[in-house]
Order: sequence, then structure tokens, then C-alpha cells
Amino acid sequence: MIEILSPTELPRAREAGALVADILRTLRSRCGVGTNLRDIDRWAQAMIAEAGAQSCYVDYEPSFGRGPFGHYICTSVNDAVLHGLPYDYTLADGDLLSLDLAVSRGGVVADSAVSFIVGESKPAESVALISATERALSAGIAAAGPGARIGDISHAIGSVLRGAGYSINTEFGGHGVGSTMHQDPHVPNTGRPGRGYRLRPGLLLALEPWVMADTAELVTDADGWTLRSATGCRTAHSEHTIAITDDGAEVLTR
Ligand code: MG
Ligand code: MG
Repeated sequence: MIEILSPTELPRAREAGALVADILRTLRSRCGVGTNLRDIDRWAQAMIAEAGAQSCYVDYEPSFGRGPFGHYICTSVNDAVLHGLPYDYTLADGDLLSLDLAVSRGGVVADSAVSFIVGESKPAESVALISATERALSAGIAAAGPGARIGDISHAIGSVLRGAGYSINTEFGGHGVGSTMHQDPHVPNTGRPGRGYRLRPGLLLALEPWVMADTAELVTDADGWTLRSATGCRTAHSEHTIAITDDGAEVLTR
């Protein structure tokens, strides 16, 4: 089912988006060499509670994970790219960290992810991975104009990722958002322009390009959740929740 928000619900979506953006910005500023992934999880838990919001993750138990996630944020380091389960790991200089957070506030979900390099060193490969996902995300947002279709977004994202030299895994991609986190329509990270569901005002979408440096194959970690590159190469992930309006896409999680 595809949910369409009414004009009176859009302000709540903006509030949910602003909260996710605020928490991710704060977490990013606190993360450095020596930060433990479990600290990040605790900080996220506290900020969600303080805002009176609900975690979309802690009880989440989809078919692609093992049991309830049991944590408040996804922390994916280096070869881990999606669904990274926080564990007892201390961040080191040059680590590529992806934080992915979804919360429900006022009955509306917002979902966003950011990748960045911890510490002072800036490995060129990691910089390129992050840049590609950020540029692909911008292209996807720009393609979500009035009258566009899901295929236009997918095509824009895929063109940037492939143009940067990466192959694309289509097992996981973007999705509709609304009263729950993962809804129709699916937004693959590659596709054909002019195809698929036509965007309409009130639709919320999470766009989330992600790449791995030298493979399109994922492996699941022994923790049952964390998805890593099959080759052990580095990876990156960028995500925003957008609202389709009469004037184009409004980014809710900037
Ligand atoms: Mg997400
Ligand atoms: Mg998402």
C-alpha cells in the first residue's frame, strides 16, 4: 500500500525529519577516534526519548534480520554498509562510519543516513565512495519533480553511481515512508526513466544510494544483521527522506 499524506500531516513529517537530522548532526559531531559504537547507540536512544519520539529499529524484526534489532541506530563501519548492529568496537582514525537512523514522531517516520570518515586521515577511496553516494542522492532528489516517476529517480541515482565506476546491488534500496518505516513503492538504485509509479504530492520517499568499492555482492555478518561487502572492501551510504510537493521534492532530513 502507498500512503499519501494530507496537507495537514506534512508539518508532522517536517518535525520528524528535523529531529532525525538534528540527532544525526549531533552524533556525527560527537563521533571521533575512541568513540565506541555502543556509546553512539546510547546517545541515539537518549535523544529519541528526550524528544518524545519512538525508535523504528528497536523492535524491528523483518525477514532480512535475525530477531528484533534491539538497538536505536545502525552503525556500519568500513566493509559494513547496511543494518550495522552496534557492538563493542572503538572507532579508529580513518574508519568510514555510516549512521542510519529512523524514528517516528507524531505518527510519521523519517529515515536518513550519513557516511563520514573518522579522525584526521582521509583515504582517497573512502572520500570517493562517500562523494558518489552523496551526489547520487542529490541527483535522485533533483529527479523527483512534479510528474516524475520512480524510474526517473532510480535512473538518476544509478547513472551517478555507475558513472563513478561502481556496480549496483539491487537487493536493498529506497522506499516509501509514512506511518511505518518501510512502505511501497520500492525505489531501486538503478532503473529506467519514465517507468514506475508516478509521484504525487503527499508521498514521502526515503532515497538511499549505497555502494561498495569493488563488488555488488553482500554477505551477512555472524550477528545476523550487519551486511558487509563480500570482498571486505569499503562502502558508503547516504539517505534522505523527501516529501513530494506541488513544487518538487522537499528534503525533510537535511
Ligand atoms: Mg535508513
Ligand atoms: Mg531507508
